[in-house]
Amino acid sequence: MPLRCLPVRTPTLPPATHTNCYVLGPSEALVVVDPASPWEEEQQALWAQIQELGQVASIFLTHHHPDHVGGVEDMVARSGAPVLAHPMTAERVSFPVDRLVHEGDRLADWTLLHTPGHATGHLCLWREESGELIAGDMVAGDGTIVLEPPEGDLAHYLASLERLSKLEPQAVYPAHGPKLKAEVFARYIAHRHARTVQIKAALNAQSQSELELVAQVYGETIPKFVYPLAARQVRCHLIWLQAEGQASASEKGWTA
Ligand SMILES: [Zn+2]
Repeated sequence: MPLRCLPVRTPTLPPATHTNCYVLGPSEALVVVDPASPWEEEQQALWAQIQELGQVASIFLTHHHPDHVGGVEDMVARSGAPVLAHPMTAERVSFPVDRLVHEGDRLADWTLLHTPGHATGHLCLWREESGELIAGDMVAGDGTIVLEPPEGDLAHYLASLERLSKLEPQAVYPAHGPKLKAEVFARYIAHRHARTVQIKAALNAQSQSELELVAQVYGETIPKFVYPLAARQVRCHLIWLQAEGQASASEKGWTA
């Protein structure tokens, strides 16, 4: 069966409004990826669509974020299928994970790739024969990918993006928004490097808070209410610069 994309409405980060639930594998042993919606109406609609496709054999999680796992318990109750996730995802969810899965494991005719950075237990699904990649929250077709430190780690994220880019996938299926092309990875890497350069340029001998740096770097390009979120992005870049010896932190803030 070809890969199916069944978007469900979720409480995700605007402007995205939906999370893509993917269904793969043969009809007698379907794998449901990220049954994401906490809302009953959405869960019912998703279940109705899945029942037309076949029998659920497993529920697979790309990572632990609430806009990816909101419908897991409902899907377990309806299907009786086991939940599969990376150990670091299993540690972070409020329901039991039945089978721990890792880098290199196989699921239907897909291979699991461990891609930390956005979340430490993040897994992608790769089908080499067709060049298809289920990318979870590594990239987005709608909105942007947020890194929340300390879970979000720019060095790990960049390494994972490089790795996915090298696969040269024919089709990249993100958790939010439409299908993407392989160039998305190089674009995201370039964007993060450009942001790092901007933040480095904003640093000087005088201590600055992360919010002050946001005002300098983003200015009027984003609304003020997004500043705290942007500050956490800036922190990821500062931690990366610090590791490279190009930024210093003290109680007063950040300096060059
Ligand atoms: Zn996420």
